[in-house]
Amino acid sequence: MMHKFAVFGNPIHHSLSPDIQNQFAKQTGFEISYDKILTPVDEFVSSVKAFINQGANGFNITVPFKLDAFKFANELTLNAKIAGSVNTIKIEANKIIGENSDGIGLIKDLTHNIGIKLKSKVILILGAGGATQGILFPILKQNPNQVIISNRTHSKAIRLAKNFSKFGNTCSISLNKIKHESIDIIINATSASLDGRMPNIAFNVANNTVCYDLMYGYQTPFMSWAKTNRAKMISDGLGMLVEQAAIAFEFWTGAKPDTKKVLSNLRR
Ligand code: NDP
Repeated sequence: MMHKFAVFGNPIHHSLSPDIQNQFAKQTGFEISYDKILTPVDEFVSSVKAFINQGANGFNITVPFKLDAFKFANELTLNAKIAGSVNTIKIEANKIIGENSDGIGLIKDLTHNIGIKLKSKVILILGAGGATQGILFPILKQNPNQVIISNRTHSKAIRLAKNFSKFGNTCSISLNKIKHESIDIIINATSASLDGRMPNIAFNVANNTVCYDLMYGYQTPFMSWAKTNRAKMISDGLGMLVEQAAIAFEFWTGAKPDTKKVLSNLRR
């Protein structure tokens, strides 16, 4: 039986999701179709409704529609509810179930692929957009010592730190007031890398710090900055992309794909 999937976004041409999902399907013996659907910014609902009417089993959602997908779903997983955004939808009879696999994808990449423990660590997250909303709860579930949120628009960082404080020790600091000494892990969750830019930070990373950029596909200015400062470890977000895709695939099909194989194919 053919399973029908797609990813909705704008822009979408750069998306690696069809390649990743097709590799998962091949591994697990599922027959799937997976399309990239370029969606006009004000046509998310009509586009996904048309896709569902064609017999879709599920779909992914990327920038800028994760909030629209959150509103569109008629059932939400706990992750999606807490994140307030949805990147994966499963269609089951009359149910449109929204999930957010970004945060668990990041945790899997950091802990399984890269081998870093988050427990008792001080973690700095740069950015307070949709991606930060998606990763905060899974990160806090790992029991870090503290999660510091810093954002260009400081009020957003204050709001997220407050909203998520019930799940762990969170605080917000202005970008220009960060002190590096006590930070174990810096996660660049801004979209600055999309434009080849660096968040405006005024500190040098310590050489025992891990630097992770959610962006993938090229060595970002943040990664170059980390390299110049001799960070202990530097990673892009390709592993997160593959891991969140695997969670979506399992959510749809029940089958667990081998992410390491796919990741090494993509890194070749
Ligand atoms: P949003 O548009 O929701 O948020 C963007 C954030 O980046 C805001 O906090 C914004 O600050 C900040 N920002 C943008 N430009 C700059 C800049 N020049 N300097 C400093 N801060 C800046 O985007 P998302 O949160 O959805 O996505 C963030 C990034 O994460 C994207 O690059 C996306 O591709 C990536 N991502 C990767 C995934 C993966 O699987 N690897 C999964 C999900 C996301 P302000 O509030 O001031 O506007």
